[in-house]
Amino acid sequence: MAEELDPFKIAQKQLDEAAEIMKLDKQAHAMLREPMQTVIVNIPVKMRSGATQTFTGFRVLYNNARGPGKGGIRFHPTESIETVKALSAWMTWKCSLANIQFGGAKGGVICDTKKLNPMELENLSRAYIRAISKFIGPEVDVPAPDVYTTPQIMAWMMDEYSRIKEHSEFGAITGKPLEVWGSEGRNDSTALGAMYVLREAAKMKKINLKKAKIAVQGFGNAGHFAFSLAAGMFGSKIVAISDSEGGVYSDKGLDLAKLDEAKAKTGSVDGYKGAQRITNEELLELDVDILIPAAIENQVHKGNADKIKPKILLELANGPVTPDADKILEQNGVLDLPDFLVNSGGVIGSYFEWVQNTARYYWTREDFDAKLDKIITRSFSDVIATQKEYASKGKKIQPRMGAYIIAVSRVAAAMKMRGWY
Ligand code: GLU
Repeated sequence: MAEELDPFKIAQKQLDEAAEIMKLDKQAHAMLREPMQTVIVNIPVKMRSGATQTFTGFRVLYNNARGPGKGGIRFHPTESIETVKALSAWMTWKCSLANIQFGGAKGGVICDTKKLNPMELENLSRAYIRAISKFIGPEVDVPAPDVYTTPQIMAWMMDEYSRIKEHSEFGAITGKPLEVWGSEGRNDSTALGAMYVLREAAKMKKINLKKAKIAVQGFGNAGHFAFSLAAGMFGSKIVAISDSEGGVYSDKGLDLAKLDEAKAKTGSVDGYKGAQRITNEELLELDVDILIPAAIENQVHKGNADKIKPKILLELANGPVTPDADKILEQNGVLDLPDFLVNSGGVIGSYFEWVQNTARYYWTREDFDAKLDKIITRSFSDVIATQKEYASKGKKIQPRMGAYIIAVSRVAAAMKMRGWY
């Protein structure tokens, strides 16, 4: 039978597994299997030719029992409602695990940003916000950047929302540039959070990160900062990196400045000189200590999981490992740290930005980093403690299930207290 790759079915399957282990109330389980609100919009956008093109966009509010919806917006050619629903579920668990005052949501537009000029990108960003403006807001649902959306796009979106409201609403969107009250630290907080998790995991597994070899799949915001931070904070060697076009490998380690140069000149990191060119599939199967998938979902699946054997698999992307692959990695003794723990630094950073926007009082970079470290390190130890608790009851669970149990039980408890079941 073909492996299930519909991301929303995967998200439901993961929830079902957790529900069974934790003996979740049936009514709560039924509520948590589906999003509370799904919005689909068709947006007319004026293109440079003068013609109008229609784009399809989504915004899904998965659950708001613990706070306003929260989650990024992806601009991706293969975006679909199933992906956005799955990602909104994962946002719910992510915010709950971090114990920040947000529910979960996600948005997306089917488009290829590489084919849009800046004016078209701005027109599209503004039109999307106009189309969903009734469903978002600082107390309702707060969007942020994700795949192929940037701080500049967030600034346009915040501006469009503010025009509709007839006053500036800085807290309506996070991941903004500093000039319009973004937060110090937010831009690299996804990768920084992952590095704090890696530091804790390495301590637990007694791995010397200074000697570690790391492969990173993806050269977007998360992958790029993961590269520079792992090298800068731990002195680790990054031996491989890729983008959507392909990748490069060198046992001696790669140089970030030269990768940036290759990307600017040739459009891909695979234009890097002095290293072996590899495909994305080959990168995942390299013999490394730490593998960091930092691109998109379903990268480690039934077909390749048996060949993927790092000591630690740090899921910086959302949904990079399928449930079938989960089982294989477990059998092979890979410590697979789940996405909604590892990449929660992004939304924790967004939470800090929203708190600062709401209070109109701004923190230093040092404050930001120290608070992020505290929250994500506590999430990591909560997950490990839950694993141990279940092990002592004779039930072996992986970190992903540990994280699910914590996250789901908090959302279920909030729904119960509010009288939803
Ligand atoms: N897009 C990021 C994520 O998937 C950040 C979301 C946010 O900051 O709201 O976690």
